Amino acid sequence: MSDNIKYIFVTGGVTSSLGKGIISASLAKLLQSRGYRVTIQKLDPYINIDPGTLNPYEHGECFVTEDGAETDLDLGHYERFLNVPTSQANNVTTGRIYQSVIEKERRGEYLGKTVQIIPHITDEIKRCIQILGSKSDFDFVITEIGGTVGDIESLPYIEAVRQLKWEKEEDCIVIHLTLIPYLAAAGELKTKPTQHSVKTLLENGVQPDILVCRTEHELSPQIRNKIAKFCNVTPNAVIQSIDASTIYDVPVLMLEEKLDEVVLEKLNVKSKKKPDLKKWMDFLGRYKNPKGRVTIALIGKYVELKDSYKSIAEAFIHAGAANEVAVEIRWIHSEELTPKNAMEKLQGVDGVLVAPGFGSRGMDGKLEAIRYARESKIPFFGICLGMQMAVVEFARNVLGFADAHSTEMKEYTQHPVISLMAEQKTVMNKGGTMRLGSYPCRLSKGSKAAEAYGNVEMIEERHRHRFEFNNEYKAQFEKAGMNCTGINPDSGLVEIVELTNHPYFVAAQFHPEYKSTVMNPHPLFVAFVKATKKYHAQHAPALRMEQAD
Ligand code: GLN
Repeated sequence: MSDNIKYIFVTGGVTSSLGKGIISASLAKLLQSRGYRVTIQKLDPYINIDPGTLNPYEHGECFVTEDGAETDLDLGHYERFLNVPTSQANNVTTGRIYQSVIEKERRGEYLGKTVQIIPHITDEIKRCIQILGSKSDFDFVITEIGGTVGDIESLPYIEAVRQLKWEKEEDCIVIHLTLIPYLAAAGELKTKPTQHSVKTLLENGVQPDILVCRTEHELSPQIRNKIAKFCNVTPNAVIQSIDASTIYDVPVLMLEEKLDEVVLEKLNVKSKKKPDLKKWMDFLGRYKNPKGRVTIALIGKYVELKDSYKSIAEAFIHAGAANEVAVEIRWIHSEELTPKNAMEKLQGVDGVLVAPGFGSRGMDGKLEAIRYARESKIPFFGICLGMQMAVVEFARNVLGFADAHSTEMKEYTQHPVISLMAEQKTVMNKGGTMRLGSYPCRLSKGSKAAEAYGNVEMIEERHRHRFEFNNEYKAQFEKAGMNCTGINPDSGLVEIVELTNHPYFVAAQFHPEYKSTVMNPHPLFVAFVKATKKYHAQHAPALRMEQAD
């Protein structure tokens, strides 16, 4: 490998949602499995500084990095595929680019010049791309450009790619992801949208080196040749990306299509090693051949858009494979869950997970699900707001504090069992001001949490919250059977609660889902799925008999 860092840009054409993030992560996986150090970056053309202030309905879940950046959910895919943490530098938005340029202008750094999109905004984009490369920890930086070519918002990014390609011709390539639609009436795959999309890129001065063609049907050699001819790429650089049953198949499909080989060839890199996907294939084997099945209810208020809980759903895939069971998620809208229908809606589930969230919408449904899981001794896992609701439920129904609440939902209450963290009391701005990122947590010996983590004493997990367990109530909770088994060693903040008198009831203030990867399924998800498996084994036969009656 030459000394130069190689830059691979991934653009998208024709439509959004073609899976640029998965293609980027799959290519990165293949290069990594050849022994290279790879990182992936996402450039988002919207004006928000980060997705932290966005409603999950907009772009799905907000993914939090170790260093506390609130980022696009594609970074979650990068981490799950590569098993390497990302950071703030891996996600840049137009808002952040402009903010930085405007701050420089205010500091007088442009020395009286007119500040313009070219060169100032494009220079800032190029700087953000090259920051990752300059760390010299990496051989390859893959930069995914959000949006679709032709969008007004993406223009400065495409222009920055054009300039970088011009300046570092040897070290840059562009992969364009496009759609080859199938017209059922004509019985044909159509290449014209791809030709137009490449033409749009060319109008902006960028010739793609590789085309990854998303398709529902196999591309014949004739179609590949036609695309190659019309779009000025070599035939071996027309890569088929056929619909897969799981995103975890995509690295394997890309290996079959030789995407990594073509990338190395275009960048003039001689690779000695062949990709070693053994561990990945082991995981796929376990995932695709489960020995059993468990059903887990996921209670949240954004369940219409499953991407809102992306990392949780993926963590269940990893933990399911580790336990050799298929995890079926029963998505339940918290607003639709009531004391009357809870039993019916949760009928037959082997576990209940109450998801993270904000605000009071759907709160009563979450409390109901928790009460049901606690009383019926169904394995329970609460995450962030899910943990806070478990505390409120316990306070109301076990401690007998009928008005117990989180001050997020009710500011003045006699029993504020969840309350605003002291450091949050003076916070006015909403963006980037929560308790974010990685913090340590000490586990109590002999607890279920400690057992899940393999009896280590200290762990580190990622956070995203403003409210916390009110320590004034700690003694009362513990006396009644809800133990605080994970504590931040510096602040005393309660990180984990669990019930003593229940087969498996664990809830965490942090977000374990962000750290679950294919190679490192998260211990708390693995332990929870294990508990659901046990519950299933004990209860499923009874259920079958009931049905036979
Ligand atoms: N709304 C809660 C808080 O701010 C929980 C946040 C979450 O679930 N991520 O503390």
